[in-house]
This record gives sequence, C-alpha cells and structure tokens, in this order.
Amino acid sequence: MYVFKFGGASVKSANEVRNVANIIKMYSDTNLMIVVSAMGKITNALEQLTEYYFTGDKESAEKLFVEIKSYHVDIAKNLFNNNNGQFIRHLEDKFKSFESMLEKAPGENYNFEYDRIVSMGEELSAMIISHYLNEAGLNNRWFNANDIVITDARYRDAQVYWDKTQVAVEEKLLPFFDNASKNSSQAIAIIQGFVGGTTAGYTTTLGREGSDYTAAVLAYTLNAREVVIWKDVPGLLNADPKLVKQNILLPNISYREAIELAYYGAKVIHPKTLKPLLNKNISLRVKSFYEPGNEGTLINYNEKYDGETPSYIFKFNQVMLSIYPKDFSFIAEDNLSHIFSEFARHNLRINMMQNSAISFTVCFDYDRTKTPALVDGLKKLFNIECIYDKELLTIRHYKKADINPFIEDRIVILEQKTSDTLQLLVKKQE
Ligand code: ASP
Ligand code: MG
Repeated sequence: MYVFKFGGASVKSANEVRNVANIIKMYSDTNLMIVVSAMGKITNALEQLTEYYFTGDKESAEKLFVEIKSYHVDIAKNLFNNNNGQFIRHLEDKFKSFESMLEKAPGENYNFEYDRIVSMGEELSAMIISHYLNEAGLNNRWFNANDIVITDARYRDAQVYWDKTQVAVEEKLLPFFDNASKNSSQAIAIIQGFVGGTTAGYTTTLGREGSDYTAAVLAYTLNAREVVIWKDVPGLLNADPKLVKQNILLPNISYREAIELAYYGAKVIHPKTLKPLLNKNISLRVKSFYEPGNEGTLINYNEKYDGETPSYIFKFNQVMLSIYPKDFSFIAEDNLSHIFSEFARHNLRINMMQNSAISFTVCFDYDRTKTPALVDGLKKLFNIECIYDKELLTIRHYKKADINPFIEDRIVILEQKTSDTLQLLVKKQE
C-alpha cells in the first residue's frame, strides 16, 4: 500500500484535480490511502474568516465566505460540467450549514473555533475530490479524519494519540483495504490531512502544514510501503528556488539528513513527518505532480549521498539578542537556566547561540507579540542589547560549498561551525 499526500497546490483548480485522477490511474496495482489538503490557499482564507468571525466583523466575514464558497462551487461545476446537479446541491447545503454555524456567536475558546472553521477546507476538498474520482471510475471511499486521527484537545496544535489512532485505523480502514485484497481489487481511501478529532468527537487540527504528518501517521498505523508527497517542485532541492536560481535536486537523502534540513528551517516537509516513518523504515518520496514519471527525491535509511551536495537554508527576520548580567558578573549556569526557561515560557525557539564570559548571544525568529514579552521579562535581570531584521544562513555540508556568492554583499556578525553545518548570522552592508 502507498500513502499519497496531495498538498494545496496540487488540488488548487479543476485541472489539478483531473491531474490527481491521472496520477492515481498510474498506480492501479496497489491499494492507496490518499491524504488531501485544502484546495489552493483556502487555509489562509479560512484563518482570516475565523479572525473576522471572532472579532465580530460581519461584513468582511460575509464577503470572504462568499468568495470561499464560489471558489469551491466553481471547481465542482467545472469538474462535473454542470451536469451533476445533485452533488452541487449537496455542496451548497454544506455551505448552508457552514454559514449557520458562523451566524451563531463564537465561544470563548479561539483555538476551538479556529479548528471548527479551518478544518472545513480539508473537508470540502476531500468531499469534492472523492466524488470526482468516483465519477471518473476510480472507486473510492472517503473516511472522515475526525474519526480516525484521534488527538488530545490541544486545539490548533493537537497531539496524536497513537494507540487510539491505531485502534481506529484497525477498526475502520484496515477492513476496507482487506476486503478489497480478498476480492483481488484495488482499494482507494480518501481522508483529510491536517485534521483530527478528540475522543469526545470535537474537530482538531495538527498545526499548519500538518497534512504531511497525517500521511506519516497513516503510513505508520497501516504499515504502508511508501509515502509519496506530490508537490509543485521536482522533489527536495538544495535551496529554495525562489531565492537561489541554480538549485539542485537531491535524489536520495537519509531520514536523518531530512530531519536536520527541516530542523534548520528548510521548508521541505513538516518536521514531525519523518520520525514515524524512520521508526518503521517506510520510505518517503517527494515527487512533482506535473512530472509524475520522474523519480523525485527518495528519503530512506541510506546515508551514502547525504554529504554530496551542500544545502542552503535561509531564515529572515531574525532577532539577535545579547544578554549581560547587570552586576558584570559572569554568565553562569543559573543565568543560562533562567534565560532558557524564559524562551520556553514564550514558546520561542533559539536558532543559534553563543556564550562568552560576560555575555550570552542568541538568535531567533521575530514574533510580533512574543519578542517584546521575552525582552521585557529578561530586562528585569539582565542588560539587553537587541538588533532586528538579520538573516540567518545555514549551510549543510559547507566544506563542499561556495559561500562567497551568498555573503559578498553581507557582513557576518555571528558564526558557528560543526563538522557538517555552518551557520552565519549576517546583515546587509550599509
Ligand atoms: N491546509 C493546511 C495548511 O495549509 C494543511 C496542509 O496543507 O498541510 O496549513
Ligand atoms: Mg500545504
């Protein structure tokens, strides 16, 4: 069995959905578990809608709701050439109940409301794609993620209960696949990515970009052979193509290397995705949905090629914070433990740090609310020097890299090296 994940870009219009059907046709000899994201940029729109709903901006909410609705209805009409009136009515009914949900006043828990609203993107996507594939002769069944991916009630950042999810998978999904195997036919199941449900039946979401993780959770619990993430790029590249024109495809890297890349901020795959796959040795492929015949990138146990190509990871909007004890004493363990707990309390992750006798310097992603709160907290005990808007460049396997083109118009203000990773905090030359 394969687990496929189709991200937002791969289902952003009727043409893309038709392409999904063509790809599925290429895999007619294996069972398929298909995880779908919300169509196009709908998750962003739904986030915005939640904001309007919660702040009581009815006019903007109404306008955006209409846009979201017509986007989906247009895709459905295009896919079914207008002659599937029943399904279109069904879709419109769905929007009616969505609308009446928005007419009621929101509850107090923002994250709870967020999950109810934002998860609609995946639900609509699964509903349309499942129906379209059935019409196209690719018989499939849509399983609701709320009943399968069982999570705690940490809305917006729900944690998967592995045991409960395993049970749900064995009760609901496995019989579906097993029956098909008995009849020697192919089984195709569809499910929403990014969405889960609590044991009490409330909808949760797993954090932005969480559909990759859904694919990994299902692959793990179903003992799948391989996960394929279909993307609008040829595979994993050694640099973001928007930033570096001359990028190279990485044909094969290890789980470990992929985890490192994700850790340093490469927007490759959702960072939580790799661990479950590694634990069961399930390989992961990242492939282009425009060129499904190409191999893309394979991620598995093989570490042989990891060091062959340097990878470049850029992080912008970095804060560099230098911390000095007020009494000119040394930075010692008790200071450090206080500093770290402040970062943890504000849920801020340190990207790079350096310690000297009288100061401790860290760099982290700027956040509109968390950064000032952190700085205010630290100011009580320390003298603080804070500079904004820096760039962090991380280079994996830097010994093979030509770094000059990236820093010739930059000044390096902080540098750190391990045997295979170089990090440079830089600023533009003034
Ligand atoms: N649709 C969700 C998002 O955009 C989940 C995903 O695409 O992975 O964050
Ligand atoms: Mg996505």
